[in-house]
Amino acid sequence: MKRSTGAMRQRIFANLIDHLKAIYHIEWPRKMFGNGEISKHDVDALVAFKSDPQLDELHAAFIRIENQKFGVCIRCTQDIDQHLLDEDPTRRLCVECEKEVSRPPSTEMDSAHGLRIGHQARLFTKPPDSE
Ligand SMILES: [Zn+2]
Repeated sequence: MKRSTGAMRQRIFANLIDHLKAIYHIEWPRKMFGNGEISKHDVDALVAFKSDPQLDELHAAFIRIENQKFGVCIRCTQDIDQHLLDEDPTRRLCVECEKEVSRPPSTEMDSAHGLRIGHQARLFTKPPDSE
């Protein structure tokens, strides 16, 4: 059985609030979120300038809700089991795809992802006159 988008939306907000409170000590009145009375803009502002992977995940989940893509595997577009979403609302892959992507990468993929970083070295060189 599929839970309503509103319920999942609320759940993600709750996680978002808990996370902000725990990590950043930001207090948001819970009733503000109770009926989903918060805009995407508010959420964007809330998570802005915080490089926090978990926050990013929650933000991404929220965007998926807004785009009606929530609960759908981003890889194969099948519905993700509700009980898995209950466990982790930020989940974006179905069980099968998760198995696929968690396999060790082939050597082919390794070379595709091998990045040349040599040119970055000069960014760390001090300009001659700097104090
Ligand atoms: Zn899938």
